Amino acid sequence: MARSEPSSDASAPAGLPPPDARSLPGSVLDGLGAHVCLLDARGVILTVNRAWREFALANGAPPDTHHEGTSYLSVCEAGEGAGCGVGEQPSFAAGLRDVLAGRVDAFEFEYPCHSATEQRWFMARVSRVRDSDPPLVVVAHDDISALKRAQLTLARREAVLADLAASIPGALFRLAVAPDGALAYRYLSPGAAALFGVAPTRLAADPRSIDRQVLPEDREARERSLRSAAAAGVRWESEHRIQGADGAVRWVQAQALPRPDGAGGTLFTGLFSDVTDRRRAEADLRISEETYRMLFQTIPLGVVYHDRQGRITSANPAAQRILGLSLDQMQGRTAVDPRWRAIREDGADFPGDEHPAMQALRTAQPVRDVVMGVSVPERGYVWISVNAMPVIKDGELVEVYASFEDITQRVLLGQELRLQATTDYLTGLANRRYFMDRLEAEFSRFRRRPTHQTCLLALDLDHFKRVNDTHGHAAGDQVLRHVAELMRQTVRRPDVLSRSGGEEFLLLLPDTGRDAAVALAERIRRRVAGTPTVIDGLSIPVTISIGVSALNPADSNRDAVLARADAALYEAKRAGRDAVRVAA
Ligand code: GH3
Ligand code: MG
Ligand code: MG
Repeated sequence: MARSEPSSDASAPAGLPPPDARSLPGSVLDGLGAHVCLLDARGVILTVNRAWREFALANGAPPDTHHEGTSYLSVCEAGEGAGCGVGEQPSFAAGLRDVLAGRVDAFEFEYPCHSATEQRWFMARVSRVRDSDPPLVVVAHDDISALKRAQLTLARREAVLADLAASIPGALFRLAVAPDGALAYRYLSPGAAALFGVAPTRLAADPRSIDRQVLPEDREARERSLRSAAAAGVRWESEHRIQGADGAVRWVQAQALPRPDGAGGTLFTGLFSDVTDRRRAEADLRISEETYRMLFQTIPLGVVYHDRQGRITSANPAAQRILGLSLDQMQGRTAVDPRWRAIREDGADFPGDEHPAMQALRTAQPVRDVVMGVSVPERGYVWISVNAMPVIKDGELVEVYASFEDITQRVLLGQELRLQATTDYLTGLANRRYFMDRLEAEFSRFRRRPTHQTCLLALDLDHFKRVNDTHGHAAGDQVLRHVAELMRQTVRRPDVLSRSGGEEFLLLLPDTGRDAAVALAERIRRRVAGTPTVIDGLSIPVTISIGVSALNPADSNRDAVLARADAALYEAKRAGRDAVRVAA
């Protein structure tokens, strides 16, 4: 609400009454949209137009303010209702006095006049009618609400723009490209100073200094792209490197939309932003992708990708080598495909839906170190240790990759070692340690349920020393293997037959009563005696002595039953060998 200086041309605004307005017909004034009132030199109302009267009535102004003969100056000085609040401004009365006294020709005064339902602003113009005698003063109130609203909107937009410019990372710009290609910045937001590393004062004095921050090798391409975007009237996009005052090189992206400037040139409005981090991440990604590709191709680890349905989408060369399948043969296959014929270490089937890749798909959790045997053409079972990892993007499982190594050697070695730990190398029968474990297990089973019977046989070849002495140790070994094979053919599947040492054997007969045990012992004795070992046409007969004992619920441990069997064996030897005896 500023009081303006008198305008240089103090004549009444266009459409206002000529000097002898008093003689004008009221209808001329009434036709004006502005609220107009004519005052004499004392500030007394000579006449008001219809707009004045109606406004005064509508706004509840006291009748004085629209009655001819009332002193408008007094009303204003009293500070009430001279025109919706204008009278409350002491400066208005002062200005009015100045015009009435001829000290100034005119003044303008802007004031708000809000009603309960609407925001309104008015401009009061007070001016002396030129050459009027006696002097005449025109007071006109114009409704400038529309203008005011537009101004306020503009100011708000500018404030928003300033806020935006200050808060977005980067710099807003307006860049004019003249028809001859000359460039000039029309606007640069303050962010440009920080982005380009130019002092704000320098930026203000020389906006094009930011173009000189662009690395020389990028400068030409940048300007060329700008000029061709201007020529084609299309969006300008460019990424270029700049070197700030600190020497650091950064990537700046320019994005701008064109608009003809009306003079044959183009005005680009857009944003410069720092994309260094993105460019760096892209470069890092490229390097890591290359590294990954190389790894994928060369590592000895098999890597196979499965989509969300479990179908194989890709496999590296190691996977193809280990599984003996080409990529073509694998693609599209799932882990549940029966062609894998997968097995567990104990030889049981490996169900496809328990494959680590399928588990990882179901649970979205990694699955580690699962050993499985896979049937590979011409290689038999290949053993692999598999890890499966879910690949999660934006919280969604998109695929699973399984990595695996060929552990066939290790598994076979393990199987071999386990076999060695439990078998006798010469005869292939169970060894003494394995037999004792089984006896121990049988003993505890027996103690829990003493209803069933279990028997134990101790067997010893007769005069075996002589075999060695007569035919040599190697022949003795062959005899041992031969006898072991005869016995193996005689026993049942659940029986545990072992070579416990030298030419001695132990046989455990679960769920076998004493009579059945004696019958089996007799069968073995007869078979051994009746089936000599033949070496190079030479027949080497041997006989065997056998002691039979039964597990007893009263036994405190397994040694008791072993001791009874040994005692019975001793009895068989004493009875002349090639005999079966039962413990008491
Ligand atoms: P008996 O049991 O009837 O009293 O007479 P034996 O001659 O069998 O007596 P003993 O048990 O004392 O001798 C066992 C012999 O078995 C001693 C050893 O020369 C022989 N022997 C033990 N282990 C092996 C082996 O692994 N290979 C061979 N060839 N002979 C073995
Ligand atoms: Mg012996
Ligand atoms: Mg012997």
